[in-house]
Amino acid sequence: MHCPFCGAGDTKVTDSRLANEGEAIRRRRECQGCGERFTTYEAADLVLPRLIKRNGTREPFQEEKLRAGILRAVEKRPVSTEALEAAIRRIVHRLRASGEREFDSQVLGEWVMDELRHLDEVAYVRFASVYRRFQDVQAFREEIERLERALSLEERAAQLSLLLDGGSLVNKSN
Ligand SMILES: [Zn+2]
Repeated sequence: MHCPFCGAGDTKVTDSRLANEGEAIRRRRECQGCGERFTTYEAADLVLPRLIKRNGTREPFQEEKLRAGILRAVEKRPVSTEALEAAIRRIVHRLRASGEREFDSQVLGEWVMDELRHLDEVAYVRFASVYRRFQDVQAFREEIERLERALSLEERAAQLSLLLDGGSLVNKSN
């Protein structure tokens, strides 16, 4: 890199070591032009992007806010904290991996819906109804219908698991 003192193009690395518990590399450099020494740090650029809101304003991504939204959606639903936290980790990871400085909050919302769809159908529809603000009434109606079909499947699954539980009891008594 260029020397910050004289602008010469040739600086020599005289020392290189890990810093910040291995999360950065600290390098001592010496300018071949003016002889000044300076230090540079190299670290992964893992800053989370700011979110671009619907109205065009920007705000920093806040994991707590994401968690609060998801918790509201899964309230009184059979979703484990473990599954929920794993979903949050995946979302944050995707956001970080995007490498963007600014990120469309609507895309983030879609990711949350993808996760909720797998966690719990009711939570998914709750979130989607708030998130989409009923803008797409037809899509929302379709989701409700899909949910109703899924619930009847769920009821069948519940009956099946009762049967299976009975079976395991029989096995235990053997
Ligand atoms: Zn220099």
